[in-house]
Amino acid sequence: MSRIAYVNGQYVRHADAAVHIEDRGYQFADGVYEVCEVWNNQIVDMPRHLDRLGRSLSELSIDWPMSRAAVEFVLRQVVRRNKVHNGIVYIQVTRGVSRRDHFFPPETVAPSIVVTARSSSPAAGQALAETGISVFSYPENRWPRVDIKSIALLPNCLAKQSAKEKGGKEAWYVDADGNVTEGGSTNAWIVTKEGVLVTRPAENGILRGITRAGILDLVAREGLAFEERAFSLEEAYDAREAFVTAATNIAMPVVRIDERVIGNGHPGSVATRLRELFHTATDLKVV
Ligand code: PLP
Repeated sequence: MSRIAYVNGQYVRHADAAVHIEDRGYQFADGVYEVCEVWNNQIVDMPRHLDRLGRSLSELSIDWPMSRAAVEFVLRQVVRRNKVHNGIVYIQVTRGVSRRDHFFPPETVAPSIVVTARSSSPAAGQALAETGISVFSYPENRWPRVDIKSIALLPNCLAKQSAKEKGGKEAWYVDADGNVTEGGSTNAWIVTKEGVLVTRPAENGILRGITRAGILDLVAREGLAFEERAFSLEEAYDAREAFVTAATNIAMPVVRIDERVIGNGHPGSVATRLRELFHTATDLKVV
C-alpha cells in the first residue's frame, strides 16, 4: 500500500507530496508542528496537542491554516487512509509560500499545512523499554523560546546525533547552572534515592510536553511523591531511576547517563509502571 499525505487541501501519494521551494518552512524554518501518538486506532490526547499547536501558532503570529475542527478531521483521515493502527500522525504548519524575504509576507499569503502518518511497532518500543536507553549530556545551546514547538530543530538534530555517535538514544541538554533542561526530543525525569519523582517546571526552558502533562495527571491520580523543580546532572547521575517522555515513546527508562549507570542499571519500577498505566490517563479519540 502506498502512503498518503495531506498537503494544502489535497490527499496525495506520499512519494509525490511536495511543497514549493519558497515555502517559508523550507527557507526560514518559519513554522510549527505537532506529533500525536496513534495507539490502538486512537489518537492520543488530540485536544491537548491542538491546544499547543494553537499556542505555537499564536506565539509566532501564524494563522490556523483551517478551522480546528477541519484539522481534527484531516488528522483522522490521514491516519485512516494510511491504515496506521499504532504509530504517529504528524502535522506541520508554516507561514506559507512567498518570495524570500525576512519580513512576514502579505496577509493574503495562506499558511501551508502538511499532515503525514506512519506506523511503528509497539513490540519494538516495548522491547526497548525493557532494556532501557542511554543518554548523553550536551550543553544547552538553543534559543530561549523552546516552549514554542517550532520546526527549527537543527540544534536538536546535532545534540541527538552526537549522542547516537556515542551509542546513546537521546541527548540531555544541560544549562549554564548545571541543570538538565530536557532531551533533544523528550522531557527528562528522575526518581531520587528517596523515591521522589522530579521534573523541571514547564517554563520557557522546556517544551510543555503533552506526554509530560499526561504523566503528571497519572502521578496525581496515583498519589506518587512528586516535585516539579530543576535537577542537576550530578543529581541525575545519583538518581534511583531516570526516564524520558514523548508522544513517540510514552515513558522510556534511562539506564545510563554519560558513562554512569543509573540505579541498578535496569529500567526502574516507577518508569515502568507509568508506562504501563499511561493510556488510562489520556484522552483517546477513535480514528
Ligand atoms: N521536548 C522536546 C524538545 C521535544 O521535541 C518533544 C517532542 O517532540 C518533547 C519534549 C516531548 O513532547 P510530547 O510529549 O508532546 O511529545
